[in-house]
Amino acid sequence: MRIDLHTHSSVSDGTETPTELLATAQRAGLDVVALTDHDTTDGWAEAEDNRPRGLSVVPGMELSCRWFPADQPPISVHLLAYLFDPVHPGLAAERARLRADRLGRAERIVQNLVAAGYPLVWDDIVAGCRGGVVGRPHVARALVAAGAATSVDDAFTSLLHHRSPHYVAKADTEVLAGIRLVREAGGVPVFAHGLARRRGRVLDDDAVAAMAEAGLLGLEVDHPDHDAEEREHMAGLAKELNLIATGSSDYHGTNKTTPIAVCTTAPDELEKLLALGTGSPTYRD
Ligand code: AMP
Ligand code: FE
Ligand code: FE
Ligand code: ZN
Repeated sequence: MRIDLHTHSSVSDGTETPTELLATAQRAGLDVVALTDHDTTDGWAEAEDNRPRGLSVVPGMELSCRWFPADQPPISVHLLAYLFDPVHPGLAAERARLRADRLGRAERIVQNLVAAGYPLVWDDIVAGCRGGVVGRPHVARALVAAGAATSVDDAFTSLLHHRSPHYVAKADTEVLAGIRLVREAGGVPVFAHGLARRRGRVLDDDAVAAMAEAGLLGLEVDHPDHDAEEREHMAGLAKELNLIATGSSDYHGTNKTTPIAVCTTAPDELEKLLALGTGSPTYRD
């Protein structure tokens, strides 16, 4: 059994439609894949309708959250959520708020870049999202198209990283509230790439324990942005806090160089996750 529990489609900042993504998953030999677009469930229906036979699909999303330390600025936290009720009013409203905030924030990043002389056209970037959730990768692609960066990765390294003068933060969900909301909707909240330091400051073990106290159910242990030591630390923390340990690729099509299925989840960990998710069914044969 090959299981990848974190992927993005063109419904957010991946490059393949949900249908194409599932075909990619099957070609890569996966038996189970989760669709986890940022702040949206808009890809779920297509994934359910166009699921290839033999592939199980876990509906999910990646909720944009932040942790407020006592004595420092907030830290960005990505919260994976699986098998929640997609029409739970509180969670649906929070997703909608996040998407609206993303739109205004991306426009401000683009305004900053235009003011600095980069030839970007906001309306073209919005059109390029085709109604999906806007994120920095869309701005990155526009920078590449304009000849201002050589690749999406280069655009992040040079202009879009969180310390860039052009950067604008999102008004993300307070993570403990996010965890409670996902649980209320019958979902399984899992802390994504919790030690990925190149993305910014990371949470300490006490903060993760506070998340577990609030209802967190899992930790993403194996992830392309975690080195061996970080994976070992996360695995130890999962054991200590009695949390599910997952592994996943965080596939984004050609917006990232990471292939699908480079990191995977053990079948017994998936079983625990499926048993805890009560808000939505898994799509399977
Ligand atoms: P945002 O959600 O708008 O803050 O943008 C963050 C997203 O950008 C992440 O979810 C990743 O998909 C993507 N990302 C971050 N760093 C890079 C990078 N170096 N190369 C490509 N994509 C990246
Ligand atoms: Fe992303
Ligand atoms: Fe993430
Ligand atoms: Zn992701």
